[in-house]
Amino acid sequence: MKILIINSGSSSIKYQLIDMKKNEALASGLVERIGEKQSHISHKILIAEKSYQKMVYQEPIPDHYQGLRKIVALLMNPEKGVITNKAEISAVGHRVVHGGENFQSPVIITEQIKDAIKANIPLAPLHNPPNLIGIEVAQSIFPQAPQVAVFDTAFHQTIPKKAFLYALPYKLYKDERVRRYGFHGTSHAYVAEKAASCLGQSLKTLNLITIHLGNGASMAAIKNGQCIDTSMGMTPLEGLVMGTRSGDIDPAIPFYLADYLGMSLQDINTLLNKESGLKGICGINDMREVLKKYEKNDHLAKIAIEVYCYRIKKYIGAYWAALGHLDAIVFTAGIGENSHLIRGFCCEGLEELGIEIDKVKNQTAQKGICHINTSKSKVSILVIPTNEELRIARETLKVIQSGSFEEGVH
Ligand code: AMP
Repeated sequence: MKILIINSGSSSIKYQLIDMKKNEALASGLVERIGEKQSHISHKILIAEKSYQKMVYQEPIPDHYQGLRKIVALLMNPEKGVITNKAEISAVGHRVVHGGENFQSPVIITEQIKDAIKANIPLAPLHNPPNLIGIEVAQSIFPQAPQVAVFDTAFHQTIPKKAFLYALPYKLYKDERVRRYGFHGTSHAYVAEKAASCLGQSLKTLNLITIHLGNGASMAAIKNGQCIDTSMGMTPLEGLVMGTRSGDIDPAIPFYLADYLGMSLQDINTLLNKESGLKGICGINDMREVLKKYEKNDHLAKIAIEVYCYRIKKYIGAYWAALGHLDAIVFTAGIGENSHLIRGFCCEGLEELGIEIDKVKNQTAQKGICHINTSKSKVSILVIPTNEELRIARETLKVIQSGSFEEGVH
C-alpha cells in the first residue's frame, strides 16, 4: 500500500510517497515559490536501498492545484516514475498545524472536519489556510482516496489544565481559546515511540523528555506515554531559543518596544518571529554556520550558543521536576541529531539529576539511533532521527483501517 503525505504551505507543497510495507519513501520533494514567475521543484526518487536520485526543475507553477498535478506527473513519469497510475495511491495524509481543542487524534477529512479546521484559522492564520488548500486540491485530484488530517497539536491535547492555562483572565480561555497548544506533536510522538522500542519497554511505562531542535525547536515532558507539558504555547513562538524566534521573553518587552522605540505591532511581530533567536544574537540562524563561527571563537556566536543551550537545560530541570521520575532524554531534528556540542552543553552539570552524558559516545554518535549516556547514568540519553512523514503515514493507515470517520472531533 502507498500513502501520499502532503505538507502544504502558503507558497509550497512538501510531499512524500511512502510504501507502507517497507516503511520507506519511494519519492519525496518540495514545490516552492508557487505563484511566482519561476517556481522551483526538487524531486527525489528511491533508486536502491536508502539511495535516492535528486532532480531539480524550474518552471512556473501558478497555484497549489497545478503544483500537486506536477507532483503526480513526476510520480507517474514514464521513465523515472515510481507509480504507473494515481489509483495506486491508497490514501493521502495531510499535516495540519492547528487542531485547537477539537482534535486529539487524526481523522478522515469530511466537510465537517474542514469546517473545524477553518474554525481554528484564528489560532494559526499562517498555517491552517494553506493546509486547507492542500486538502481541497488533493480531494479534487484524488477523489477515490480517503484523505486524513494529522494535527501538529493533537499529541499535546493530554496536557492538564494547570500546564496549558496562562494566568490571564479565565474568560480569554473560555471565550477566545487562549491557552498553550504546543506543536511538533508528530515528531515528539514519533521519537517517544522509537525510544520505547529501543529501551525495550512499553511507552505506557516510560517518562521521557523529548527535545526537537530544528529550525523551530520545542520540548515535551511525557509521563507514562502521555504528554503533560510542552514548551511551545498558543503559537510556536514560546519556549526555546530558535533560528529566528525569540522563545520565552518578558511579556512586557513588546510594550517597551512600542512605547520607547515607536515600533508597530507588525514590526514587533516580525522582530520576535523573524529577527530574534540565534539570528538576533549573532546574525545567523543556521546552526551549522553558528557553530563554524563558534569554532573560530566568535564572541556573539559563543553567546548565542550559551543562551540557546542554557534555555534547554532550564527546561530539562523544569520537566524533570514536573515528571518526578525520568527514564530518558531524547534529542532529535537537525540540530539534536547532528550536533554533539549542543547536546553536550545541554546536559552539562546535570549529574545530580541522574543525567550523565558519555563524552566519547556523544562525539562519535553516527547517523541513526544512538545511546550517548554513561553506564552509570540513571537516565538514558538517546539520539533518535525524527520522521514526521512516516508517522503521518502510519496514523493515516490506522485511521483508514479503523474506518473512523468522525472520531476525534469534540
Ligand atoms: P530541521 O528543521 O530539522 O531541518 O533542522 C534545521 C537545523 O539543523 C538548522 O539550524 C541546521 O543548521 C541544523 N543542522 C543540520 N545539520 C547540522 C549539523 N550537521 N550540525 C549542526 N546543525 C545542523
